[in-house]
Amino acid sequence: MYWMDMTEQEIADAVGAFGVPNFRIKQVTEWLRKGVRPKDMLNLPKDLRAKLNTIPFGGATIYDKRVSQKDGTIKYLFALEDGNLVEGVLMRYSYGNTVCLSTQVGCNMGCKFCASTLEGCVRSLRPGEMLSFLAEIERDEPPEKSKPRTVTNIVLMGSGEPLDNYDNVVTFLRRVTSEQGPNISARNISLSTCGIVPKIYKLIEDAPHVTLSISLHAHSNEVRSELMPINKAYPIEQVLEAAKAYAERTGRRVILEYALIGGRNDSEADADALAKRLRGILCHVNLIPLNPVKERGLDGVTRSYAHRFSEWLEQRHISATVRREMGADIEGACGQLRRRVLNEIRG
Ligand code: SAH
Repeated sequence: MYWMDMTEQEIADAVGAFGVPNFRIKQVTEWLRKGVRPKDMLNLPKDLRAKLNTIPFGGATIYDKRVSQKDGTIKYLFALEDGNLVEGVLMRYSYGNTVCLSTQVGCNMGCKFCASTLEGCVRSLRPGEMLSFLAEIERDEPPEKSKPRTVTNIVLMGSGEPLDNYDNVVTFLRRVTSEQGPNISARNISLSTCGIVPKIYKLIEDAPHVTLSISLHAHSNEVRSELMPINKAYPIEQVLEAAKAYAERTGRRVILEYALIGGRNDSEADADALAKRLRGILCHVNLIPLNPVKERGLDGVTRSYAHRFSEWLEQRHISATVRREMGADIEGACGQLRRRVLNEIRG
């Protein structure tokens, strides 16, 4: 058991076992909910801090950090206690700051355009680790004077498939939205999935206020199965049925991500077929010009071409935007920084 993963009761039991008065339990709980390590729990006696240190903390530390000169985006590489490295990104928007968090070290989904999955999934992240990313970012980039915290929005769009780490992700969502924790509104949290259909239905029950994004990337099963192996298990019809269920149940539009890949899914005929597929679903299409990954051999499209594709969808009454490009100068895309650092370490 790790401090950062414990429930209040588990903390009370673990701290109580050191034979300290109840107010100490409260102090430790408050620190842990802020993601603070025992050595920094400054109102505790030294010997209690040493006792607390006999149980592993279960958090992350900042291993590397790149700041974009273009837009202030910060890419973090976090080190976990077992030595694994995983990425997170802080993006600054006019409405607030969004962090993009990873949910697994690597990924098993095997999407053909993605750098995170090249070497499979090493392991899933625990809720305490995901909470620790947030705490480390808050410490590294403290809020402006009038603001309670730096981070206002979270997107689970880093490496990993969140619904392949379902229980830990739902626990994380519960804790990150709680008043005892970072208290971030569920409406400010988006979860992106490659489309594990049964887990989408489960998520609608367990976290209905979280914004659902689904990586679609194609309008036909033929192309989607080539790009995303998961489509063989859950074909596009089932994915869109689940998207519809989310929209109907929550009254909120589902976000469909569509990476534009040169010559594969980016023609006007593709836009037309996509629009036909999406008719009647309360949704918004988020277009991403593919960020080409060297090992993958797929082409991107220009931003101006992506805007044309967006217009083709709009003309067919499908709401669409081109995703803003953040941190292009710091390897902002999934898995790229981790991959480069690992390659450097391995020589
Ligand atoms: N596993 C989740 C979240 C991870 S990635 C999912 O599949 O949704 C977040 C988004 O970035 C997904 O839509 C993913 O398909 C997309 N993506 C991954 N690699 C990309 C690349 N090289 N260029 C553009 N988008 C990419």
